[in-house]
Amino acid sequence: MSADAPVVRFAPSPTGRLHIGNARTALFNWLFAKAHTGSFILRYDDTDRERSTERYAQGIAEDLAWLGIVRDRIARQSERIAQYDAAADALRARGLLYPCYETEEELEYRRRRQLALHRPPIYDRAALKLSAEERARLEGEGRRPYWRFRLDHRTVAWNDLVRGAQAIDTASLSDPVLVRADGSYLYTLPSVVDDIDMGVTHVIRGEDHVTNTAVQLALFEALGARAPDFAHHNLLTLPSGEGLSKRLGHLSLEALRDKGYEPTAVAALAVLIGTAHAVEPVTALGDLVGKVDLADISHSAAKFDEAELAALNARTLHQLPFAAVAARLAARGISNAPAFWDAVHGNLEKFSDVDIWAAMISEPVAPPETPSVEDADFLRRAAEKLPEEPWDQDTWARWTEALKVTSGRKGRALFHPLRLALTGREAGPELKQLLPLIGRARALARLRGENG
Ligand code: GLU
Repeated sequence: MSADAPVVRFAPSPTGRLHIGNARTALFNWLFAKAHTGSFILRYDDTDRERSTERYAQGIAEDLAWLGIVRDRIARQSERIAQYDAAADALRARGLLYPCYETEEELEYRRRRQLALHRPPIYDRAALKLSAEERARLEGEGRRPYWRFRLDHRTVAWNDLVRGAQAIDTASLSDPVLVRADGSYLYTLPSVVDDIDMGVTHVIRGEDHVTNTAVQLALFEALGARAPDFAHHNLLTLPSGEGLSKRLGHLSLEALRDKGYEPTAVAALAVLIGTAHAVEPVTALGDLVGKVDLADISHSAAKFDEAELAALNARTLHQLPFAAVAARLAARGISNAPAFWDAVHGNLEKFSDVDIWAAMISEPVAPPETPSVEDADFLRRAAEKLPEEPWDQDTWARWTEALKVTSGRKGRALFHPLRLALTGREAGPELKQLLPLIGRARALARLRGENG
């Protein structure tokens, strides 16, 4: 990896399972790293000790592995508190991090008053005016300070790799709280410290973080570090327009996996939806590398519809070569697997549908409900004319050509009774491919209505 190879990170807080929108962020990062021979860090933003759990951290690792994302490095913010303390102390020493004592109720009261006066509800920096004695008195009353970062009220500008030129006037923002009264960190400062220490070159994340970026760019500057490039992608919503929530368990990867969707279909939809590209199936995750440029991502939200995933899942299966599924078919004990796959893959919606067709081939098929006298006669003659084995894909044509001549039937009248008797179904894979898989003995029994 060259010195200027990009370093990206996906930084979920382990407070729930990943949903399809989180997968989109993870994939944009991973694909960016792959396309530019860079590296991908999985960073758990787990400073919220109450809501973060090991179970969710493991679940996230499982979800990423299922998608096919391989990380180059893993980090946990909970193990890096000393680094955040050092950065916070450096900011305190320069008066950039200042103690505040207001309760949530006091702040709420002030916000309401500001709104009533038609002023923006921005923190008024009252705590900055406290003298040392006043602070000592408040602490004597048992109040513990929390800490705000003093914004310099300049306009922060950056060239967003998705959204283009961005500018945020930090005078329009409240000084953000970086450290809680219990000494724990909100995500804002640890994220910047990590991005600096880990050499992150590109921060690719959802556009819900645009305002954070203004604050974080000010922090990079305050900590004397060069800031990474930023790219804020559009968010996915439910078909109703409602945002996705990890906490509420919306469209979790776990649930989509349990429903039997292919990881490549989930990944392709998560990446391609809401971009300048058509949603097309891929054979492997690697096929998405280099496909979507950050600049191709739309600026407005994209609706995620499970029906679209179901359709893409089917299209994904329809174009998968046998080699891509050989191990999975073997694991299900399916015999004659290459020919089986050729025959059935165009009829699958979920991979597990292979079981339906495998059973149709090798297990008894219910005889058609009382065929007409003509059809029964036709099937009897068809059984007599069944060629001897060995069978191949031409057997069906040879057999049905001969039946056409002897019976005078053609089209549906010729094929439908045969399909119904041989497969027990109105529709399904092509009979020229199924017939050799069913084999002569079973075909004969089924034509004779013997439940073969
Ligand atoms: N933990 C943050 C989140 O899940 C990370 C945001 C970021 O990528 O900086 O939204």
